Parts: sequence; C-alpha cells; structure tokens
Amino acid sequence: MRYDFIVCGAGSAGSVVAARLASNPEVNVLLIEAGGSDTQPEVMEPALWPHNLDSERDWSFTAAPNPHLNGRAIPLNMGKVLGGGSSINVMLWARGHKNDWEDFAAESSDPAWGYESVLEIYKRIEDWQGTPDPRRRGRSGRVHVQPASQPKPVALALLDAAADLDIPTFDSPNGAMMEGRGGAAINELIIRAGRRFSIYRAYVAPLLGAPNLTVLTNTLVTRLVLRGRTAIGVETLQEGGRRTVYYADREVVLSMGAVHTPKVLMQSGIGPEGELTTHGIEVIQHLPGVGRNHQDHVAFGCVFEFHEPQAIGSGGSEATLYWSSQAGMRLPDMFHCQLEFPVPSAETALRGVPEHGWTMFAGLAHPESRGSIHLSGPNPRDPVRIEANTLSHPADMGAALANIELCRELGHSRAFANLVKQESLPGPLPKEQMMNYARDAAVTYWHQSCTAKMGRDAMSVVDSSLSVYGIQGLRIADASIMPHVTSGNTMAPCVVIGERAADMLIQAHL
Ligand SMILES: Cc1cc2nc3c(=O)[nH]c(=O)nc-3n(C[C@H](O)[C@H](O)[C@H](O)COP(=O)(O)OP(=O)(O)OC[C@H]3O[C@@H](n4cnc5c(N)ncnc54)[C@H](O)[C@@H]3O)c2cc1C
Repeated sequence: MRYDFIVCGAGSAGSVVAARLASNPEVNVLLIEAGGSDTQPEVMEPALWPHNLDSERDWSFTAAPNPHLNGRAIPLNMGKVLGGGSSINVMLWARGHKNDWEDFAAESSDPAWGYESVLEIYKRIEDWQGTPDPRRRGRSGRVHVQPASQPKPVALALLDAAADLDIPTFDSPNGAMMEGRGGAAINELIIRAGRRFSIYRAYVAPLLGAPNLTVLTNTLVTRLVLRGRTAIGVETLQEGGRRTVYYADREVVLSMGAVHTPKVLMQSGIGPEGELTTHGIEVIQHLPGVGRNHQDHVAFGCVFEFHEPQAIGSGGSEATLYWSSQAGMRLPDMFHCQLEFPVPSAETALRGVPEHGWTMFAGLAHPESRGSIHLSGPNPRDPVRIEANTLSHPADMGAALANIELCRELGHSRAFANLVKQESLPGPLPKEQMMNYARDAAVTYWHQSCTAKMGRDAMSVVDSSLSVYGIQGLRIADASIMPHVTSGNTMAPCVVIGERAADMLIQAHL
C-alpha cells in the first residue's frame, strides 16, 4: 500500500506522468484509473470512435440547463477508460498556437512554459511520420503522429475552398501554421497501422509487467489523505464498494481531468471556503479558484448534403481550419474541424438531416464565456454540477455568427460544387433566427479545461511547478491547469503538461 508516487487518472496527462516516473526501476509508482480496459474494438478501430459516446467508457456528464442555449442541458462526454480522452477521442493531434504557450509562460512567470521550450518537448514526444521539419518535429518519441493517409475528396475540397477565401493552406496544422494567423491543413492523427495509438498505449502499455508500476482499474479516487497540509495518500473506492487507502512517500499527482480533479480537491477540503462549508466539509486550504474558470470550445454544426454517398476517411475527420478573423490578432478566434458525416445537435436534428453529408464543426477558438464546477454534496458519489455557461458572454454570440457565416461561405465555394448537393443546416436565416440556430446547435468540442489554473493571482490553484498552493506533496497534471484553453484540440497540450510534470518531479526527487 506504499508507493513513491501515486498518479490519479490514466488519461492523456496521467499516463505520461506515471510512465515517465516508472521508467526508473528504483521508483515505485501507483496509477489509479476509475475506468477499465481499453481493448474494445470501439477504442482500437478509428472509425468506431462515436460508439464510445455514452458507453461505459464515457463519464457522460451533462451541463446544467442553460438559458443562453434555449434552456438546453448539453451532454459533456469525457473518457472513463485506460487512456482517458485519448482512448475515445477523434485522435486529432493539435499542438496549440505559439502564443498559447507564450501566455502560459507569462501567466506562470516561467519561461519553461514558453513556445521555444515546449517545441523541444514536442520534438521529444513525437514520432512524426510526415514531411520532415527538423526545427519543429521529432522522429524518435513515443507518440506516433501521422497525417491522414489518402484524405478523401471532401477534405481536399476544404483546403481548396479555404484558398478561394484567401485563407492560406499548409502541409501541417502543427508547424508554421500555428505560429501566425492560421490556415487550413490536412489533420494529423494518433493512428498507427490503422489502429488508435492512445497516450496510454504510447507511454504505459510498454511498461506493463514491470515490478515498479502498479495499474489499478475500476478504482475511484474519492479523497486525498492529508497530514496537516501535506498530501500523504489517497482514499479509493473499488468495484463492489471496497474502500482502500494508498500512501505516497513522495508526492500525489491529480490527473483526473478538468471535472474530477476539482471535485476531488473540494471533497478533500481544498477549494472555495464558502462552497466547502455549505457541504459541511472541513476547510484545509481556501483556494477560491478550484472549479472556477471552466473553459471549453463550443461548436456549431453546419451540415451539407452530398450528391452521392462518400467514403469516410481516417476517423472521419481529415481537415481542419484555424483562422484569425482580423490580421494582427495574437491568437486565432476561429477553429473548425471537418467531419465527414452529418453531426447535428439533438435539437437541430429536428430541422432535417441528410442521410449522406458532411459537417463543418465551426467553433470558437477562444470563447469569453466562463463556467464552473460545483459539488452537490460532500460524498464521493454525489454527482458534480457543471455550470458550463456556454454562450453566456455576449461576445460569443457575435463570434458564433461569424463562424457560421464562414462555414456557409466555405460550403458554397466552387471547390465543393462536385460534391455538395445543397446546404442542409442552417441555411440562409435572418439574424434573429440565426442566433436561435446557434443556441440550438451549440455543442461541446469536448475540451473542458482550466478549472485549477496555473498562475500567480488569487484565483490560481497551482504554481509554475504544478504544485497546489498551500499544500505540500500535491501536484496537478491535466487539462485543469491550463490558464486558458489552447487554440485547438487539447490532447497534445495535455501530453506536454504530463511531460513537464514528470520533468519537475524527477528533478525534485530523483
Ligand atoms: C469525444 C471526445 C473527442 C475528443 N477529440 C479530441 C481530438 O480529436 N483531439 C484532441 O486533441 N482532443 C480531443 N478531445 C479532448 C482530449 O481527449 C482531452 O482534452 C484530454 O484527453 C484531456 O486529458 P486529461 O489528462 O486532462 O484528462 P483525461 O484524458 O480525461 O483523463 C482523465 C482520467 O482520469 C480518470 N478519472 C476521473 N476521475 C477519476 C477518479 N475519481 N478516480 C480515478 N480515475 C479518475 C478518467 O476516467 C480518465 O481516464 C476529445 C475528447 C472527447 C471526450
């Protein structure tokens, strides 16, 4: 029951931390995961990823009903399986924009989070299979990254359509494109030999069987064990209701994602004093930022009907577009992923969906709306309440309309003429009706983050070394620590967060 390190959560970041620490045979590591095995075809076969949604591998959270979305309570999927999100996601590898990382460095006052430093980490992480770019890409890392092989005509048409609108196209969405105003490119994916190669597979699976690494599945971390203000272990609940305590001689790392990391912190007495006392939880450390600053990309599906059914390519998403609507913006404000099949929301589906079509998942790269995570009670089984507050900031509705307009322009471009029969959703609508469409269409891009942010102000939860303020022996390594959500999909940045956490733990202890 005693380990050097305990890592809670075997997702995109936790898998990295546990494997990097356990690479040293002298170090005993316990990795605890609430979900189970990742060997099902729905995980391994790229085309089957949608079948994971609402399965046993999904926490299937639901946001609180939102008046800004016509009262809708939108689903918020999150991975509950070895690999976490990296085992159920769309497999896109998106490294964030240069200025995301410069902002992380500024917020934490630590240049090690800046772009040049992170670029070196990405080079170490990646086993890049595309056009060589030695300044930016690595060839000998653990994570196999490859461009979508043989992209389908609909993906190539998107690049042509972008060029028609004077949006530049690039060989890669992860190189020069994300150092400037943006552009369009064929996606890069974590697919190896036709199979999903999750972050758990890349990092932890090669170490399975090593005597110094224990991986527990179907085990829920319920609370931290604290001695005064030092984390010394965790309480867990196993299938069948068995409670067990595990102890860490060196540190505990929380990597349970942006919903459960703040939940477990609060249930352990670390969080906003008012919220803890409401639920009768003894306050160990007042940290008002726990569960606040919740961010997520929001997407609005624009659907176009094909003339003829089309084959679906790698994972069904092969092209992407990031764009800054004004020249000189620090970060792109538009973030679109193409999906090669219709993806309406439950509400927009009622307006009519074609049998064969494609979707532009038009998203806001940097929404202004902020949400929060709350306890509904003091007990581990009390469900969390997620106030996602999507579209609550007035600026986000204007950005939504601009994004939908860009999608419509792209879809009607001559590049799609041979493929597209007609626009199915939303169609030409007057402004009020288009705003109503946006409220009905808004869905999560599945990038919940920022709920235990890194920084130096009163709302920060961790410092630049990812240590929780006021508590010894406790770090956080997952999407929670982002000060703001990165431009694009969030798995790759979580791998960087895991790598940085491992570097700092190794430096501090070994
Ligand atoms: C459907 C979907 C599609 C997505 N598509 C993409 C994509 O194509 N590209 C991309 O870059 N990003 C994508 N994302 C987002 C990306 O997968 C996540 O941002 C990323 O995995 C977050 O990493 P994390 O380490 O913060 O948490 P996670 O990867 O979510 O890992 C957290 C882990 O902790 C476990 N856990 C939670 N609570 C407990 C507890 N109490 N006790 C023990 N274990 C616990 C969870 O079961 C999970 O395994 C997608 C996400 C989803 C859900």
